[in-house]
Amino acid sequence: MPEANTMLCVSWGYIKFKRMLNRELTHLSEMSRSGNQVSEFISNTFLDKQNELELPCPMAKTRERKKRTHHQTQLGGQTPSQGTMTQISGVRKVSQTPVLQGCSVSRFGVKTDQEDLLSKDLEDINKWGLNIFRVAEHSHNRPLTCTMYTIFQERDLMKTFKIPADTFVTFMLTLEAHYHADVEYHNSLHAADVAQSTHILLATPALDAVFTDLEILAALFAAAIHDVDHPGVSNQFLINTNSELALMYNDESVLENHHLAVGFKLLQEDNCDIFQNLTKKQRQSLRRMVIDMVLATDMSKHMSLLADLKTMVETKKVTSSGVLLLDNYTDKIQVMRNMVHCADLSNPTKSLDLYRQWTDRIMNEFSHQGDRERERGIEISPMCDKHTASVEKSQVGFIDYIVHPLWETWADLVHPDAQDILDTLEDNRNWYQSMIPQSPSPPFCTGDGELEDGEGGHKFQFELTLDDGQDEDGQIGREEGERGTEGGRNKP
Ligand code: AMP
Ligand code: MG
Ligand code: ZN
Repeated sequence: MPEANTMLCVSWGYIKFKRMLNRELTHLSEMSRSGNQVSEFISNTFLDKQNELELPCPMAKTRERKKRTHHQTQLGGQTPSQGTMTQISGVRKVSQTPVLQGCSVSRFGVKTDQEDLLSKDLEDINKWGLNIFRVAEHSHNRPLTCTMYTIFQERDLMKTFKIPADTFVTFMLTLEAHYHADVEYHNSLHAADVAQSTHILLATPALDAVFTDLEILAALFAAAIHDVDHPGVSNQFLINTNSELALMYNDESVLENHHLAVGFKLLQEDNCDIFQNLTKKQRQSLRRMVIDMVLATDMSKHMSLLADLKTMVETKKVTSSGVLLLDNYTDKIQVMRNMVHCADLSNPTKSLDLYRQWTDRIMNEFSHQGDRERERGIEISPMCDKHTASVEKSQVGFIDYIVHPLWETWADLVHPDAQDILDTLEDNRNWYQSMIPQSPSPPFCTGDGELEDGEGGHKFQFELTLDDGQDEDGQIGREEGERGTEGGRNKP
């Protein structure tokens, strides 16, 4: 039975893969206190805690114990609702924008007195280098609406799916208004960035004519809604504080389920149904794909997504013209969910100037979550303590353990299309590495007896591969000097 064999192979690959990562993270956590923090961040965020019986997280024991005590004693979460939860929280009436009065839609779907500048910014709509920060500046902070509007024009999607322009703009403005402007990272700028990045990835030559218009529509819609109504705190925070959302979704992909519910619910607002002219079958199919893609943005699913992608790369077939052969739904949706996931994790692949702005934003958001945890007297999540978080080290760890392995696999899939992206990622990684503050050390012992290496004292490198033959005996982690290739590239 070939299918059963494939499944066995995939899950075995995943287990080996996860075991290797756990071993590396243990190593990293033992190096220093900041190494431990980066390791905890990666472990907490990107490893699924379910099915963990055979693979205990090496550094989580005391933390878990502490968490449980807190849970039992002091976490009240939000005020319990009086009735049952029949409403999707977060959906509210937004005062509709002046743009739509009189029904004519402005050139980019938004009201702006800087249309020329916006037009110049949006000339880069088909480039990885688009400066979404400037788009926001020149569109009265409506980057999502005008980016999506431009992408839909560019791809002729409004015509193809008979989406009235005013409905499209009304929906997009409503969606954009449901992103929180006061959340530093997970606001509509991030959604616009992920949507535009997805637009570029969809156009990669290796995927030429692979996706139908409906699949393209689904991928762009998924990217646009994928973080809507994000409160600026993580799934774990929502679970730990017994929030209504965690209750609603039984602690499973809490935020991602919520983003989907809000995203689809908003289609029911006045003049918001951009899918009104799709057939029932198209709507059903689109909904299924969107749900799949947005749920796959739950970072705890990262490792299994990556393991499956690696399996796909190992067995990939291409046509004579070099285009990927994806002839069934399972393969297509797998590429689509990884594509949106890559777009979601694309900050470190952008020019350094853009990447650094994203880093500032996410660190600010993390530190606000940390402040809220401190106020509540609960344990502060890794990377969320503004007094101890090491920005540069966390970015190097984030790239080495998560972003590079993912993008390297994507680059293998669409080879050679993503080579420039990979090069930028490696340059950025090296820049953050070079910015790790040097301590005046030699290594010293901290008050609690922990051996501290001083920031930047140890450097680490990690190689993720399913074929871990010689890696089984601990040869994965190497010191910087032993690297086979330059620039953080993890090729064997
Ligand atoms: P999402 O929350 O859906 O945007 O998923 C992206 C997640 O990846 C974030 O919540 C962070 O946990 C992580 N992430 C993305 N970019 C960065 C970054 N530059 N530094 C650290 N973590 C990041
Ligand atoms: Mg998300
Ligand atoms: Zn996101």
